[in-house]
Amino acid sequence: MPENIGVSRRELLVGGAAAVALGPSLADAAVTRRSKRGRAMRFAHLTDVHVQPERAAGEGMAACLRHAQEQKDAPDFIVFGGDNVMNVDGEEGKQYASVQLDLWHSVLKAECSLPYACAVGNHDVFGNHPVDGKKWAVDAYALPDRCYTIDRAGWRFIFLDSTFPIGDSYTAKLDDGQFEWLAAVLQQSKAETPICVVSHIPILSVSAYLCIEETPKVDWQIPGSWAHIDAHRIKDLFKKHPNVKLCLSGHMHMVDSMEYLGVTYACSGAVSGNWWKGSYHEFDPKYALVDLYKDGSFDIEMVSYGWTPKA
Ligand SMILES: [Zn+2]
Repeated sequence: MPENIGVSRRELLVGGAAAVALGPSLADAAVTRRSKRGRAMRFAHLTDVHVQPERAAGEGMAACLRHAQEQKDAPDFIVFGGDNVMNVDGEEGKQYASVQLDLWHSVLKAECSLPYACAVGNHDVFGNHPVDGKKWAVDAYALPDRCYTIDRAGWRFIFLDSTFPIGDSYTAKLDDGQFEWLAAVLQQSKAETPICVVSHIPILSVSAYLCIEETPKVDWQIPGSWAHIDAHRIKDLFKKHPNVKLCLSGHMHMVDSMEYLGVTYACSGAVSGNWWKGSYHEFDPKYALVDLYKDGSFDIEMVSYGWTPKA
């Protein structure tokens, strides 16, 4: 685990416990410490909301948004990590897709007062169609494109489109056009501008090893739909650009963090937990608070918002 994340989680535990006993002064001290360290921004990473009319998912999404925005040290930006709606990639058709999307927009309108950006998840690709289905997602979430950049507080965010549909299914990789676009974006980015990459599916993931229910008999079997099968060429590209600091993902509904060649790859669990049925593996419904610092360092704090499944 990279030291900065380890420190952050320890601080959080100590600060959180002490704040309950001693009042808000330690929490205030943590904010002061972050600003002294040169914090550029704090954002919330809400991934895998999977909003749907069933299982009170709209109420859950609202509760999560309120929880994040009511933090004492509140974020000023929200990143939705994809799979924002339950699923429009199956055969249910346009009507069910519209019901989910309408709910998404109504909860956002009522509960989100912050600027936000979205990544496209596999379940956001209408009909799992590589062109028209992705256009649906771009239009649905009013995105500049299926992959795009945002510059904010001295950092550059690069949103990637991980889903590569194949027949009725998909694998996780960047098509050649998108890879070339990413290479060009990195080439054109100033070396002193730290970069946070957001993909729905992890580029690299520890969770992909432990998501299977049974211990493997001989070999690990990790599906290409769980982590990018083009991780080799992506890490080779990142190696040429040491300002790539952090790659955030969702999709696994699990929480992990690993560092490889100077880049931290972190998965932020799921707002929906086990698709609104409680916890998935060891992870209850969660979101991440991410502090980005001017020097390219960062902290990630995982936050449970206390949602329990409704009938
Ligand atoms: Zn997904």
